[in-house]
Amino acid sequence: MTNHSLYRGSIFHCIETSSGVEPAYHEDGLMVIKGERIVEVGGYAELSARYSSEGSIVHFKDSLIMPGFIDSHIHYPQYKVISSYGSSLLEWLNKYTFVEEQKFSDSEYAAKIAELFLDELIKNGTTTAMTFCASYKQSVDVFFSAAEKRNMRMIAGKVMMDRNAPAGLCDDIDSSYADSKSLIEKWHNKGRLSYAVTPRFAPTSTEGQLIQAAKLLTEHPDVLLQTHLNENSEEIAWVKELYPEFNNYFDVYDKLGLSGPSSVFGHCIYNTVDEYKRMAETSSKVALCPTSNLFLGSGLFALNELESYGIDVALASDVGGGDSFSMFDVMNQAYKVCRLNGYNLDPVKAFYLTTLAAAKVLGVDDSIGNFESNKEADFIVLDLNATELIRQKMQTATDISDLLFCLMMLGDDRLVDEVYILGQCAYKK
Ligand SMILES: [Zn+2]
Repeated sequence: MTNHSLYRGSIFHCIETSSGVEPAYHEDGLMVIKGERIVEVGGYAELSARYSSEGSIVHFKDSLIMPGFIDSHIHYPQYKVISSYGSSLLEWLNKYTFVEEQKFSDSEYAAKIAELFLDELIKNGTTTAMTFCASYKQSVDVFFSAAEKRNMRMIAGKVMMDRNAPAGLCDDIDSSYADSKSLIEKWHNKGRLSYAVTPRFAPTSTEGQLIQAAKLLTEHPDVLLQTHLNENSEEIAWVKELYPEFNNYFDVYDKLGLSGPSSVFGHCIYNTVDEYKRMAETSSKVALCPTSNLFLGSGLFALNELESYGIDVALASDVGGGDSFSMFDVMNQAYKVCRLNGYNLDPVKAFYLTTLAAAKVLGVDDSIGNFESNKEADFIVLDLNATELIRQKMQTATDISDLLFCLMMLGDDRLVDEVYILGQCAYKK
């Protein structure tokens, strides 16, 4: 009887040391898994001597084994909104998103899209995401059911919105509180699932609704919060009109009790100095969404500013504002946003921001994000010969940074050969 699952190949993950983030790379490595968890990873020569009697070794040749990607900001009901032509944020919401999201009052439709959405994440190598659902309670039920069936670690929440949207999509202060609460009781910490209180953004919530959202956080302290902040200049002007008594956009969330270490704010392109400072003081987290920001023409985020204030950040796809499920694309566009700001995005850091840093932002780094001993075995196998161009370019790589940069600039879902969730193969190309 075999006790362990053994996978040989090049292995990469990020680790944090006293001197910062470092790549852990074994060109010829062995990954040892027992059941659902990682026992250890290391050099093949050393580990195979200890473990080869424990099971047969699966050898992934010309492949890179790395942790599954973690997408810290995405909208599953926008699966079909992706790549909708020709508008900026507020027009895009009205013209495409609010129309599509109303279809999620139909559980059958919502369930179908939830399955397609999870299939798409997996084939792109994303094994965990924090997703907005629609404003209908059942859109969350069907999503969690679909994720549970696949054993995926997922975070999700019912969108709370009680104004400035079609009547069919709006909830109200009482029902949004009651529905969110019953969803938390039903799903939060059920297996690998957890809940995020999800006011869409300040313009579509009354002050009363945001106060109820904060009440949910107080009543359930280990639940997360997800929302949007400072994505677009028209949006910011609108928040100023709707919330004239607050100092700035972040101040609305902050004063009403929605800031803090479990709160993840999408975008943060146009943060003011006061907002950066206050986000840092409250240990609030940020999900940066380069593909979405470029697609909608929202603007260029300032990664270096966020980091200089010590704010924890991760990268995210923000589908359907983002036009790709691939975290390779997200890293590619993040690199270009940084170039337009006059600096580089180091490739190791890019992979950190889509794995371990994202796990930290979502508060799940005890469970996933890298290959530390006893973490859950969510990993992907990348085919380094996926395309002729990648195969040729890879021959010029002299170290792990070169290799990762090649993958993030030239890669997409064609790279993803196999995906493992809790130690079980969930996808083979
Ligand atoms: Zn979003």
